[in-house]
Amino acid sequence: MTARIIDGKVIAAELRGRVADEVARVKREHNLVPGLAVVLVGNDPASEVYVRSKHTQTQAAGMASFEHKLPADVSQADLLGLVARLNRDPAVHGILVQLPLPKGLNTEAVINAIDPAKDVDGLHPNNAGRLAGGFEALSPCTPLGSIILTKSVHASLEGMNAIVIGRSNLVGRPLVQLLLNENATVTIAHSRSRDLPGLVKRADLVYAAVGKPEMVRGDWLKPGATVIDIGINRIPKDDGKTRLVGDVAYQEALDVAGAITPVPGGVGQMTVACLLVNTLRAACAIAGLPKPAV
Ligand code: NDP
Repeated sequence: MTARIIDGKVIAAELRGRVADEVARVKREHNLVPGLAVVLVGNDPASEVYVRSKHTQTQAAGMASFEHKLPADVSQADLLGLVARLNRDPAVHGILVQLPLPKGLNTEAVINAIDPAKDVDGLHPNNAGRLAGGFEALSPCTPLGSIILTKSVHASLEGMNAIVIGRSNLVGRPLVQLLLNENATVTIAHSRSRDLPGLVKRADLVYAAVGKPEMVRGDWLKPGATVIDIGINRIPKDDGKTRLVGDVAYQEALDVAGAITPVPGGVGQMTVACLLVNTLRAACAIAGLPKPAV
């Protein structure tokens, strides 16, 4: 058996197209232009690439994009001052502070300072708490994208056994909540879990969000399982360059899984597309409009 490959590129492009249609509609019908502000502190090369791609895709969807670059030695007070200005700015509906922040800055204080209504990364405790409580919330983008990819294979996740490996605030925990909202039965695994291969073997849906290259082996999987590989790991190649691999041993998994996301070209593609969805949703909610059709 060879697994069906879940094409994140195609699914993300389709989602971005639907966002652009809705952005055009709210502009036409309500004179509303959703705006996303991205704050980049310092010059981490990976963060710069992400921020550039967010900027390009936001503009391509017809939304306003505001970039704020601050030096790595910016003071906590100045960073909080910028967040406060963005909170007040009526043209800004989404605020994203690119993480990780340089050493010396208090990430938790910065996240807590963002207006929860504009928290398109879904990391503010209000949104995390609302999601955990089963209430309407802005949810983190990577877990949202992971669910959309799963639903490209299974129309309903009801009653399916899912395992989420990883329990970070950014990925694992919110993903667990989203899976519960879909009525899946969820196991949460982490570095202290016992017999991880045995736990994975029972799962119809496997989500790997660990940050360990190819940790999940093909023979751990239940035949036919759907595998969503969230990990992004850069490993050295023989020629001195690097290549990206996920947390799942892809070649092995291809022979056992029913469907699988590649790395790159899987979940990573969905993260920015879901950021656009969250910005559109935040703009509509702030303007008192009904939830958009994406
Ligand atoms: P964190 O480092 O915050 O969390 C990793 C989690 O994996 C922790 O909960 C940890 O457990 C668990 N873990 C570590 N080792 C093991 C092990 N041997 N067995 C089982 N669980 C283990 O990472 P993130 O959640 O931020 O990111 C996870 C991966 O996803 C990374 O590769 C990251 O690059 C990628 N990522 C991809 C995105 C995308 O757009 N595709 C976006 C965000 C992240 P414990 O809690 O016990 O320490």
